[in-house]
Amino acid sequence: MADGTPLVMAAFDPYAARAQFPILSRTVNGKPLVYLDNAASAQKPRAVIDNLVAQMEGSYANVHRGLHTLSNEATDAFEAARETVARYLNAPSPETIAWTKGGTEAINLVANGIGLSIEPGDEIIVSEMEHHSNIVPWHLLRERRGAVLKWIPVLADGSLDMAAYAELLGPKTRMVAVTHMSNVLGTINPVAEITRLAHAAGARVLIDGCQGAVHAAPDVQAIGCDFYVVTGHKLYAPTGIGALYGTAGALESLPPYQGGGEMIETVEKDRIRYAKPPHRFEAGTPPIIEAIGLGAALEWLSGFDRAAIAAHEHALYQHAVSRLEGLNWLRILGQAEGKGAILAFTVADAHAHDIAQIMDRYGVAVRAGLHCAEPLAKRMGVTSSTRASFALYNTVEDTDAFVDALIKAREFFV
Ligand SMILES: *Cc1c(COP(=O)(O)O)cnc(C)c1O
Repeated sequence: MADGTPLVMAAFDPYAARAQFPILSRTVNGKPLVYLDNAASAQKPRAVIDNLVAQMEGSYANVHRGLHTLSNEATDAFEAARETVARYLNAPSPETIAWTKGGTEAINLVANGIGLSIEPGDEIIVSEMEHHSNIVPWHLLRERRGAVLKWIPVLADGSLDMAAYAELLGPKTRMVAVTHMSNVLGTINPVAEITRLAHAAGARVLIDGCQGAVHAAPDVQAIGCDFYVVTGHKLYAPTGIGALYGTAGALESLPPYQGGGEMIETVEKDRIRYAKPPHRFEAGTPPIIEAIGLGAALEWLSGFDRAAIAAHEHALYQHAVSRLEGLNWLRILGQAEGKGAILAFTVADAHAHDIAQIMDRYGVAVRAGLHCAEPLAKRMGVTSSTRASFALYNTVEDTDAFVDALIKAREFFV
């Protein structure tokens, strides 16, 4: 809120939510943990921890292979989790969801598949605010296939220059790959409009939802994109699991990514037939426990009023900004209209790493560096920044502890 008064949300109780996260009651350096590195990875609620243990204690086997009871139970839970992901994204069917080991692998899967038909001079549009996961796979196509990378500029407030984007599109554009929400600036991009313009130019669209899908449950059909990428570990689920949504046509057009068991229909000595999507993209034993754990995390999340969570996180962000605004030694990166609860900043005459390390002495966990977005740092004219990112379990006490620790950290540099 503009006056910095923390909101008391009737529809969402952050203290009750927080109590479900065992790790948040530990101390760090003798201080209560204030965990504000959620854009790097979120902590796990009891519901997810219990789910993982219950699987291994009660109903675990490899999926799709056996005819025995445990394998059938595991397969049912594994496919139910796929349905949960589809529901979370408002995807039309579970067949449009392929499991991956994370956001990075999902983007590489698409880039590899598209790459096989990329001709020299074909253009791929990304934005200056992309995570390296949505840059480097396309750079590989530049190096290996002669693709040309084009960059949507970021404006001073941290939003995308949509007029410049429209100019970049053309008959050679094959792919537009843009993040739903910046992991540094917190900007939420107009992905439906980005998609509409790309489709009008005949290009496919990949939306990197690794942050966007945490901020709110996305509607991939309303966005209209060909591909949408999510990662589990930022959604309160385990590491090692992510998902790629693709329209039926988009997935069907992609060749296999890796070869192995489970992704084939028949294998002979001189011929092979691949399975249909999504199994075509799931070679080998999948991350079974992790996938079912992601399903459990999304079921757990769906029990909350998501709009109230987003409002709560935003109120914390606003509270921090209202305490920090006007400090002449601090620069906040990105203040785009409607941005999410990510606060990246620089401190005059202090290195971001030093600030983060001093804050850690006060129990405050923040990230510092390039945040896997080096072109964005260059665009903003910084060599590094410190980032606090808010999750549903953060409180106004966390936020005050963060601001207090930051002010103390800065005193080391004056
Ligand atoms: C975290 C993140 C990724 C990478 O996801 P992993 O699952 O960690 O590989 C990609 N894009 C954005 C915007 C991210 O925040």
